[in-house]
Amino acid sequence: MRRALLSAFALFAILAAPAHAAGGPSPGSPGLGDRLFPGLGNGGYDALHYDVDLRYATSAPTQPIDGTVTMVAQATQALSRFDLDFAGASVGAVAVNGQQVSFARVDGELVITPRAPIRNGDTFLVTVSHYVAVPTVPDNNDFSTEAFFYTPDGSATAGQPNFANYFLPSNDHPSDKATFDFRFDVPAGETAVANGVLAAKWTSRGRTHWAYVQRQPMATELVQLAVGNYDVTPDGVQSGVLVRDVTAKPITARILPDLQPFTGPQLAWLQARVGPYPFDLYGSLVVQADLGFALETQTLELIDTSWFDDFDQGVWEPTELHEMTHMWFGDSVSPKTWSDLWLNEGHASWYEFLYAEQKGELADDTQDYPDPTGYATFDELMKAVYAHGDQWRNDSGPVAAPSSADTLFDLQRYHGGALVLYALRQVVGAATFQRIERAWVQRYQGQSASTDDFIALASQISGRNLTGFLRDWLYGTKTPPMPGHPNWKVDQAVGNQRLARTVHGRR
Ligand SMILES: [Zn+2]
Repeated sequence: MRRALLSAFALFAILAAPAHAAGGPSPGSPGLGDRLFPGLGNGGYDALHYDVDLRYATSAPTQPIDGTVTMVAQATQALSRFDLDFAGASVGAVAVNGQQVSFARVDGELVITPRAPIRNGDTFLVTVSHYVAVPTVPDNNDFSTEAFFYTPDGSATAGQPNFANYFLPSNDHPSDKATFDFRFDVPAGETAVANGVLAAKWTSRGRTHWAYVQRQPMATELVQLAVGNYDVTPDGVQSGVLVRDVTAKPITARILPDLQPFTGPQLAWLQARVGPYPFDLYGSLVVQADLGFALETQTLELIDTSWFDDFDQGVWEPTELHEMTHMWFGDSVSPKTWSDLWLNEGHASWYEFLYAEQKGELADDTQDYPDPTGYATFDELMKAVYAHGDQWRNDSGPVAAPSSADTLFDLQRYHGGALVLYALRQVVGAATFQRIERAWVQRYQGQSASTDDFIALASQISGRNLTGFLRDWLYGTKTPPMPGHPNWKVDQAVGNQRLARTVHGRR
């Protein structure tokens, strides 16, 4: 009797326990807990591949996407339910492993309940059919309007940091990279371009089909979908890299002379410093717009006509170099969290400044950054940035700890990030610094890496423990002394100024 009673209690205890405590299936987390974007990305699985199938019914630039995406994923827990991120207009249907399932849309989440739980470790397919995304007028005061935007010539995308889910149901966080296939079905005569290599193109019954393969892993924020009245101009193999540029047709003749002569030399310049180019091809997408930024969409950086219309070569040439640098720093090696953005922007700014200095363009390139006078040398620029150190830590947070999503793209991540690299070079010397740079993009090629990963690698390559030194520079609220420059002074912080936002910035 006593024994039977105990058994009943034991059974009750098992039944009453939460399913996950007993290792049973449970819902995947609706976010990955990124400190700047807690709801971005989803827990419980790892996206391995996306097959993206997009139909643009007409040639109107305002044409919505009718899309079907199949995500191949591997469960990292037993899943009773899981989310994708999607903030587009509507969803037609959702299937898991080919079986139609129920779904719900809750804020930016697409909540999917499979018919049977998915076992931990299983690979599964999720198909979101006939989702609709509508392009918007780009307003350069609001990045969200530029996620999927239209111009007089067509549409294009700029998903960084948290907007790829506006046009693509996905696990929208740079810590979960995947390979991609893209297929477009557009009216004959329209051009469609995505990241990666053109694998096929054919026209039938008044429709042209374009297929692209992005075989190196990519973060969703770096997806580019450009459809419209665009020219694709092959530019051969430059410095060992296949190059093609994409330009809105009305501006092709005007823009290409500002673009093509620089691509090969810039690829050579960067490869000499950081090692082989990490992807199958490179090029620029130039749209007629004033987005307020250029963006490193993988293998096809996005830049607009305002750079060429409103600025001279001293600005757009280093900007092109900046976006190209991101193919290594930011694209091939993605940030683990958005607080690690300085790893993208600090490095891209570092090479941009060095390049601009060599070309005698530094004063132009850094106009208004951080002071309107411009600087003749890289050292002078870094000294000026150093003077802003405490103010920027106050206004924007430390370099690797942005105070909020609103300050993420402040100069603190760009010039401030470059200043951290400057301090590192001061300590380890130029030769070791460059070995760290090369090791970084090699070690973490195709992966996502964190600030701690960088600190550990810098320590390993230099053979000295740089943890305290770099953490003070990256996370401290006070600007540390600059090694080798005891006379460099930090201005006293004077309360919140919010002066450090990029006006016409690179991203
Ligand atoms: Zn950038």
